[in-house]
Amino acid sequence: MPHESYDPRFATYVMFNAPLKKLASGFDWAEGPVWMGDANCLLFSDIPGNRIMRWSPDLGLSVYRAPSNFSNGHTRDRQGRLVSCEHGGRQVTRTEWDGTISVLAHCYSGKPLNSPNDVVVHSDGSIWFSDPHYGIGTNYEGHKAEQELPCNVYRIDPDGTLEAVLTDFNCPNGLCFSPDESKLYVADTGRMFHKDPTHIRVFDMASGRPKGGAVFHVITPGAADGMRMDSEGNLWSSAGDGVHCIAPDGTLLGKILVPEIVSNICFGGRAKHQLYITATTGLYMIALNRRGVQLP
Ligand code: MG
Repeated sequence: MPHESYDPRFATYVMFNAPLKKLASGFDWAEGPVWMGDANCLLFSDIPGNRIMRWSPDLGLSVYRAPSNFSNGHTRDRQGRLVSCEHGGRQVTRTEWDGTISVLAHCYSGKPLNSPNDVVVHSDGSIWFSDPHYGIGTNYEGHKAEQELPCNVYRIDPDGTLEAVLTDFNCPNGLCFSPDESKLYVADTGRMFHKDPTHIRVFDMASGRPKGGAVFHVITPGAADGMRMDSEGNLWSSAGDGVHCIAPDGTLLGKILVPEIVSNICFGGRAKHQLYITATTGLYMIALNRRGVQLP
Protein backbone atom coordinates (compact mmCIF):
# COMPACT_ATOMS: atom_id res chain seq x y z
CA MET A 1 0.00 0.00 0.00
CA PRO A 2 1.15 3.58 -0.56
CA HIS A 3 1.49 4.31 3.17
CA GLU A 4 4.27 4.32 5.71
CA SER A 5 3.15 4.57 9.34
CA TYR A 6 5.19 5.95 12.25
CA ASP A 7 2.39 6.31 14.80
CA PRO A 8 -0.70 4.16 15.51
CA ARG A 9 -2.95 7.16 14.90
CA PHE A 10 -2.02 7.22 11.23
CA ALA A 11 -3.68 3.85 10.62
CA THR A 12 -7.05 5.51 11.22
CA TYR A 13 -6.27 8.37 8.83
CA VAL A 14 -5.71 6.20 5.76
CA MET A 15 -7.67 3.29 4.32
CA PHE A 16 -6.07 0.01 3.31
CA ASN A 17 -8.23 -0.28 0.20
CA ALA A 18 -7.89 3.30 -1.11
CA PRO A 19 -5.32 3.42 -3.92
CA LEU A 20 -3.06 6.29 -4.88
CA LYS A 21 -4.45 7.15 -8.31
CA LYS A 22 -2.52 8.91 -11.05
CA LEU A 23 -5.09 11.17 -12.68
CA ALA A 24 -3.02 12.96 -15.32
CA SER A 25 0.57 13.40 -16.45
CA GLY A 26 2.74 15.23 -18.96
CA PHE A 27 3.41 18.40 -16.96
CA ASP A 28 6.82 20.00 -16.51
CA TRP A 29 6.28 21.02 -12.87
CA ALA A 30 2.74 20.75 -11.52
CA GLU A 31 1.96 23.00 -8.54
CA GLY A 32 -0.65 25.01 -6.69
CA PRO A 33 -3.78 22.82 -6.64
CA VAL A 34 -7.10 24.35 -5.55
CA TRP A 35 -10.44 22.54 -5.40
CA MET A 36 -13.40 24.36 -6.99
CA GLY A 37 -16.32 22.50 -5.41
CA ASP A 38 -19.04 24.42 -7.24
CA ALA A 39 -17.50 23.46 -10.60
CA ASN A 40 -16.53 19.95 -9.39
CA CYS A 41 -12.99 20.42 -10.63
CA LEU A 42 -9.43 20.99 -9.55
CA LEU A 43 -7.30 23.82 -10.91
CA PHE A 44 -3.51 23.64 -10.74
CA SER A 45 -0.49 25.23 -12.36
CA ASP A 46 1.98 23.73 -14.79
CA ILE A 47 4.52 26.43 -14.07
CA PRO A 48 7.13 25.92 -16.83
CA GLY A 49 4.27 25.17 -19.24
CA ASN A 50 2.89 28.64 -18.45
CA ARG A 51 -0.65 27.34 -18.05
CA ILE A 52 -3.33 26.60 -15.49
CA MET A 53 -4.83 23.14 -15.90
CA ARG A 54 -8.29 21.94 -14.94
CA TRP A 55 -9.13 18.35 -13.96
CA SER A 56 -12.60 17.10 -13.19
CA PRO A 57 -13.79 13.59 -12.34
CA ASP A 58 -16.36 13.63 -15.13
CA LEU A 59 -14.56 15.58 -17.86
CA GLY A 60 -10.91 14.79 -17.26
CA LEU A 61 -8.10 17.17 -18.12
CA SER A 62 -8.26 20.48 -20.00
CA VAL A 63 -6.46 23.82 -20.09
CA TYR A 64 -8.12 26.48 -17.92
CA ARG A 65 -5.85 29.42 -18.77
CA ALA A 66 -2.83 29.84 -21.05
CA PRO A 67 -0.65 31.76 -20.84
CA SER A 68 -0.93 32.00 -17.08
CA ASN A 69 1.90 34.45 -16.33
CA PHE A 70 3.72 31.39 -14.96
CA SER A 71 1.20 31.06 -12.12
CA ASN A 72 2.13 29.02 -9.07
CA GLY A 73 -0.02 28.75 -5.93
CA HIS A 74 -3.78 29.30 -5.87
CA THR A 75 -6.53 29.56 -3.29
CA ARG A 76 -10.08 30.91 -3.09
CA ASP A 77 -11.18 33.90 -1.07
CA ARG A 78 -14.26 33.98 1.18
CA GLN A 79 -16.35 34.99 -1.85
CA GLY A 80 -15.12 31.98 -3.82
CA ARG A 81 -12.92 33.96 -6.20
CA LEU A 82 -9.68 32.48 -7.44
CA VAL A 83 -6.57 34.11 -5.95
CA SER A 84 -3.32 33.30 -7.74
CA CYS A 85 0.42 33.84 -7.37
CA GLU A 86 2.21 34.66 -10.62
CA HIS A 87 5.95 34.33 -11.17
CA GLY A 88 5.82 35.97 -14.61
CA GLY A 89 3.85 38.99 -13.56
CA ARG A 90 5.59 39.02 -10.14
CA GLN A 91 2.17 39.64 -8.64
CA VAL A 92 -0.85 38.27 -6.83
CA THR A 93 -4.10 38.40 -8.76
CA ARG A 94 -7.78 37.71 -8.25
CA THR A 95 -10.03 36.34 -10.98
CA GLU A 96 -13.35 38.13 -10.69
CA TRP A 97 -16.72 36.47 -11.24
CA ASP A 98 -16.89 37.96 -14.75
CA GLY A 99 -13.46 36.53 -15.65
CA THR A 100 -11.49 39.77 -15.49
CA ILE A 101 -8.25 39.65 -13.55
CA SER A 102 -7.43 42.19 -10.82
CA VAL A 103 -3.91 42.75 -9.50
CA LEU A 104 -3.88 42.67 -5.68
CA ALA A 105 -0.14 43.16 -5.07
CA HIS A 106 2.84 43.73 -7.36
CA CYS A 107 5.36 45.87 -5.49
CA TYR A 108 6.48 46.78 -1.98
CA SER A 109 8.32 49.97 -1.02
CA GLY A 110 8.39 50.88 -4.69
CA LYS A 111 10.21 47.68 -5.71
CA PRO A 112 8.79 44.72 -7.64
CA LEU A 113 7.93 41.59 -5.70
CA ASN A 114 10.21 38.60 -6.37
CA SER A 115 7.86 35.84 -7.51
CA PRO A 116 4.81 35.18 -5.30
CA ASN A 117 4.67 31.47 -4.62
CA ASP A 118 1.86 30.31 -2.34
CA VAL A 119 -1.20 32.00 -0.87
CA VAL A 120 -3.85 31.56 1.83
CA VAL A 121 -6.82 33.63 2.96
CA HIS A 122 -7.69 34.53 6.57
CA SER A 123 -11.30 34.80 7.73
CA ASP A 124 -10.79 38.56 8.22
CA GLY A 125 -10.48 38.81 4.44
CA SER A 126 -6.73 39.38 4.43
CA ILE A 127 -4.62 37.48 1.90
CA TRP A 128 -1.23 36.09 2.95
CA PHE A 129 1.45 35.03 0.48
CA SER A 130 5.10 34.02 0.34
CA ASP A 131 7.54 35.74 -2.01
CA PRO A 132 10.73 33.70 -2.53
CA HIS A 133 13.03 34.24 -5.49
CA TYR A 134 12.43 30.95 -7.33
CA GLY A 135 10.52 32.47 -10.23
CA ILE A 136 13.19 35.02 -11.14
CA GLY A 137 16.30 32.86 -10.70
CA THR A 138 16.05 31.33 -14.18
CA ASN A 139 13.83 31.59 -17.24
CA TYR A 140 12.35 28.13 -16.56
CA GLU A 141 9.51 29.13 -14.21
CA GLY A 142 9.23 32.81 -15.10
CA HIS A 143 11.52 35.56 -16.30
CA LYS A 144 15.09 35.76 -15.00
CA ALA A 145 15.52 39.07 -13.23
CA GLU A 146 17.41 40.80 -10.46
CA GLN A 147 16.06 40.29 -6.96
CA GLU A 148 15.22 43.65 -5.38
CA LEU A 149 13.40 42.61 -2.20
CA PRO A 150 14.12 40.11 0.59
CA CYS A 151 12.11 36.90 0.51
CA ASN A 152 9.25 37.92 2.80
CA VAL A 153 5.76 36.81 3.72
CA TYR A 154 3.19 39.54 3.04
CA ARG A 155 -0.33 40.31 4.16
CA ILE A 156 -2.78 42.12 1.88
CA ASP A 157 -5.38 43.90 3.99
CA PRO A 158 -8.97 43.97 2.69
CA ASP A 159 -8.36 47.70 2.06
CA GLY A 160 -5.45 46.79 -0.24
CA THR A 161 -2.58 47.74 2.07
CA LEU A 162 0.44 45.47 1.63
CA GLU A 163 2.42 44.68 4.77
CA ALA A 164 5.59 42.58 5.17
CA VAL A 165 4.66 40.42 8.16
CA LEU A 166 7.56 37.94 8.18
CA THR A 167 10.97 39.23 7.17
CA ASP A 168 13.41 36.72 8.69
CA PHE A 169 13.04 33.86 6.21
CA ASN A 170 15.53 32.40 3.81
CA CYS A 171 12.90 31.40 1.24
CA PRO A 172 9.34 31.17 2.58
CA ASN A 173 7.14 28.85 0.56
CA GLY A 174 4.08 26.85 1.68
CA LEU A 175 1.88 28.39 4.34
CA CYS A 176 -1.40 27.65 6.11
CA PHE A 177 -3.42 28.59 9.18
CA SER A 178 -4.56 26.14 11.85
CA PRO A 179 -8.31 25.37 11.78
CA ASP A 180 -9.03 28.01 14.47
CA GLU A 181 -6.49 30.44 12.92
CA SER A 182 -4.60 30.62 16.22
CA LYS A 183 -1.41 29.45 14.48
CA LEU A 184 0.29 30.14 11.18
CA TYR A 185 2.63 27.57 9.68
CA VAL A 186 5.21 28.70 7.11
CA ALA A 187 7.76 26.53 5.36
CA ASP A 188 11.28 27.64 4.55
CA THR A 189 12.60 25.75 1.53
CA GLY A 190 16.03 27.39 1.21
CA ARG A 191 17.85 29.24 -1.53
CA MET A 192 17.64 27.85 -5.04
CA PHE A 193 20.44 25.35 -5.65
CA HIS A 194 21.55 25.72 -1.99
CA LYS A 195 19.11 23.82 0.18
CA ASP A 196 19.72 25.47 3.53
CA PRO A 197 16.74 25.06 5.86
CA THR A 198 13.95 22.70 4.88
CA HIS A 199 11.77 23.16 7.90
CA ILE A 200 8.34 24.41 8.89
CA ARG A 201 8.04 27.19 11.46
CA VAL A 202 4.99 27.90 13.61
CA PHE A 203 3.73 31.33 14.66
CA ASP A 204 1.22 32.41 17.28
CA MET A 205 -1.57 34.57 15.84
CA ALA A 206 -3.15 35.80 19.10
CA SER A 207 -2.53 39.46 18.24
CA GLY A 208 -3.61 39.14 14.60
CA ARG A 209 0.02 39.20 13.48
CA PRO A 210 2.49 36.29 13.63
CA LYS A 211 4.66 36.06 16.73
CA GLY A 212 7.32 33.52 17.65
CA GLY A 213 8.38 31.32 14.78
CA ALA A 214 10.00 28.29 16.38
CA VAL A 215 10.91 25.37 14.15
CA PHE A 216 7.85 23.10 14.17
CA HIS A 217 9.12 20.23 12.04
CA VAL A 218 12.07 19.43 9.77
CA ILE A 219 10.98 17.80 6.52
CA THR A 220 13.21 15.05 5.18
CA PRO A 221 13.70 14.15 2.45
CA GLY A 222 12.79 17.16 0.36
CA ALA A 223 10.93 20.25 1.52
CA ALA A 224 7.54 21.59 2.56
CA ASP A 225 6.74 23.31 -0.72
CA GLY A 226 2.99 23.15 -0.06
CA MET A 227 0.92 22.29 3.04
CA ARG A 228 -2.71 21.93 4.06
CA MET A 229 -4.48 21.12 7.34
CA ASP A 230 -7.12 18.57 8.15
CA SER A 231 -10.03 19.43 10.41
CA GLU A 232 -8.24 18.07 13.49
CA GLY A 233 -5.17 20.24 13.05
CA ASN A 234 -2.86 17.69 11.50
CA LEU A 235 -0.53 19.24 8.95
CA TRP A 236 -0.18 17.46 5.60
CA SER A 237 2.97 18.55 3.81
CA SER A 238 4.69 17.91 0.52
CA ALA A 239 8.06 16.14 0.75
CA GLY A 240 10.62 14.51 -1.47
CA ASP A 241 9.14 11.05 -1.05
CA GLY A 242 5.46 11.89 -0.90
CA VAL A 243 3.09 13.59 1.55
CA HIS A 244 3.92 13.66 5.26
CA CYS A 245 1.25 13.85 7.98
CA ILE A 246 2.43 15.79 11.04
CA ALA A 247 0.55 15.98 14.37
CA PRO A 248 -0.11 19.34 16.10
CA ASP A 249 2.86 18.64 18.40
CA GLY A 250 5.21 18.24 15.41
CA THR A 251 5.37 14.43 15.44
CA LEU A 252 5.57 12.70 12.06
CA LEU A 253 2.61 10.31 12.03
CA GLY A 254 2.97 8.75 8.60
CA LYS A 255 3.55 9.23 4.90
CA ILE A 256 1.66 8.79 1.66
CA LEU A 257 4.39 7.53 -0.66
CA VAL A 258 4.31 9.09 -4.14
CA PRO A 259 6.63 8.01 -6.97
CA GLU A 260 7.54 11.63 -7.91
CA ILE A 261 8.70 14.63 -5.86
CA VAL A 262 5.59 16.30 -4.44
CA SER A 263 5.20 20.06 -4.82
CA ASN A 264 1.83 20.80 -3.29
CA ILE A 265 -1.47 19.36 -2.11
CA CYS A 266 -5.09 20.25 -1.41
CA PHE A 267 -8.19 18.56 -0.12
CA GLY A 268 -11.20 18.23 -2.41
CA GLY A 269 -14.14 16.09 -3.41
CA ARG A 270 -17.68 16.17 -2.01
CA ALA A 271 -16.53 15.61 1.59
CA LYS A 272 -13.10 17.27 1.30
CA HIS A 273 -11.79 13.75 1.94
CA GLN A 274 -9.75 13.42 -1.23
CA LEU A 275 -6.14 14.54 -1.12
CA TYR A 276 -5.06 15.94 -4.49
CA ILE A 277 -1.32 15.88 -5.03
CA THR A 278 0.71 17.75 -7.64
CA ALA A 279 4.00 15.90 -8.07
CA THR A 280 6.52 16.98 -10.72
CA THR A 281 5.01 15.63 -13.99
CA GLY A 282 1.87 14.09 -12.53
CA LEU A 283 -1.41 14.75 -10.73
CA TYR A 284 -2.39 12.17 -8.12
CA MET A 285 -5.28 11.64 -5.68
CA ILE A 286 -5.91 9.43 -2.69
CA ALA A 287 -9.04 9.23 -0.53
CA LEU A 288 -8.41 9.65 3.20
CA ASN A 289 -10.37 9.07 6.38
CA ARG A 290 -9.87 12.74 7.24
CA ARG A 291 -11.38 15.98 5.96
CA GLY A 292 -9.49 19.02 4.89
CA VAL A 293 -9.86 22.52 6.22
CA GLN A 294 -10.11 24.50 3.06
CA LEU A 295 -12.11 27.35 1.69
CA PRO A 296 -14.76 27.71 0.67
MG1 MG B 1 5.43 26.54 -3.44
